[in-house]
Amino acid sequence: MANCAIVGINWGDEGKGRMVDLLTEDYDVVVRYQGGGNAGHTVVNDQGTFALHLLPSGIFRDGVVNVLGNGVALDPENLWIEMQDVIKKGVLLTPENLKISNRASLLLPWHRDMDELEELRLADKKYGSTKQGIAPFYSDKYQKKTILAGELFYPEELKAHLADLMEWKNLTLNKVYHAEEYTMEKMERWLEDYCEKIKPYICDTGAFLKEAQDKGKKILFEAQLGSLRDLDYGIYPYTTSSNTTAAYASIGSGLPSAKIDRVVGVVKAYSTCVGEGPFVCEMFGEEAEKLRNAGFEYGAKTGRPRRVGPIDIVATRYGVEIQAATEIALTKLDVLSYMEKIPVCTKYVVGNTETDRFPFPIALEHAKPVIEYMEGWCSDISGIRTWEKLPRQAQAYVEWIEQAIGCHISYVSVGPEREAFIKR
Ligand code: GDP
Repeated sequence: MANCAIVGINWGDEGKGRMVDLLTEDYDVVVRYQGGGNAGHTVVNDQGTFALHLLPSGIFRDGVVNVLGNGVALDPENLWIEMQDVIKKGVLLTPENLKISNRASLLLPWHRDMDELEELRLADKKYGSTKQGIAPFYSDKYQKKTILAGELFYPEELKAHLADLMEWKNLTLNKVYHAEEYTMEKMERWLEDYCEKIKPYICDTGAFLKEAQDKGKKILFEAQLGSLRDLDYGIYPYTTSSNTTAAYASIGSGLPSAKIDRVVGVVKAYSTCVGEGPFVCEMFGEEAEKLRNAGFEYGAKTGRPRRVGPIDIVATRYGVEIQAATEIALTKLDVLSYMEKIPVCTKYVVGNTETDRFPFPIALEHAKPVIEYMEGWCSDISGIRTWEKLPRQAQAYVEWIEQAIGCHISYVSVGPEREAFIKR
């Protein structure tokens, strides 16, 4: 059995959704195992263009069962809105092809408030949160102060539990932030409007996945964001609040016995980063604007312009290492077609020393990039489907990255559409 994890190697937005959509052809089950609706996976296929936030990217394939694992931040309100959106565009969602773990914790309405209130309090020291409540949610999950999705099937116990949590959270909302308190009436409306709607999809997904594994079904684990946003290994505190690494897939999916044979790390042919935090290879001015526009680098969830830069070999090699990637999908190579000379960040200078090791987060704040240039190809490659037909300079760029990061590049993506890729 060959299970597979598809993970981001950099800061997120590498094109994971596009790769999951492509690779699901060979898999029976797709599981989202961490994170919440704070990022967006854009998928373009014959059914249309979709910005998925929480739904697994396998929902477009007939016969694929999609699972939201216990590791995700399950926001009933946003999930229901997202489900309505894809259903409206003709995608079939049923309890047969979408299953939500009864052990997933619920992102409660006040988590979004807390996120917003804290970013306001921090003012110019803010983390650049998407204000979807993810950090307050995970903090509360680890404090054991949230609700499991399966509790929706026990209404009496649920209401008592919710009342206790609300009393506790109102203390912070009122006394710390001087914000409006929650009432049980408001919470009951939330239960009715959103939780009841997603309830038919909630089940024991752990048992489902175990059975699928025993029957030899192939499982694909889908991550959100990228290595450098991992809570433990990333650019803390400018990370997300969960583990974005493949190593977390077995825990967050609900299949702790999963063996992952294949880890496809997704790398963009250049760098992008949303939000605050150190981004050593960042480009500015006209050069940045050109790249941002060529790659249409605006957040799928927030519309925020993404920070851009050349491919960062130091960060990418580190990302490959912590993901234990077995192969790489290099995306958006077509975006670089306008450049005569392609900048690449090969090393950092920290203090007076050149290094190719990814530094400790505080040292990262002071690192400077070493930039070199490679020859561009200056022609449209978006219609090319075979390696041999790629211009010599584009082949050299891919081979150089492969050698520099020490991992085989098995896919080169040259467009957002499902079929716009080259298999090597
Ligand atoms: P994800 O969160 O990692 O799935 O990435 P996003 O969806 O946020 O960002 C990737 C964006 O690039 C999406 O708009 C994709 O449609 C688009 N995309 C993916 N691969 C390619 C590619 O090879 N070329 C081009 N031009 N766009 C791509």
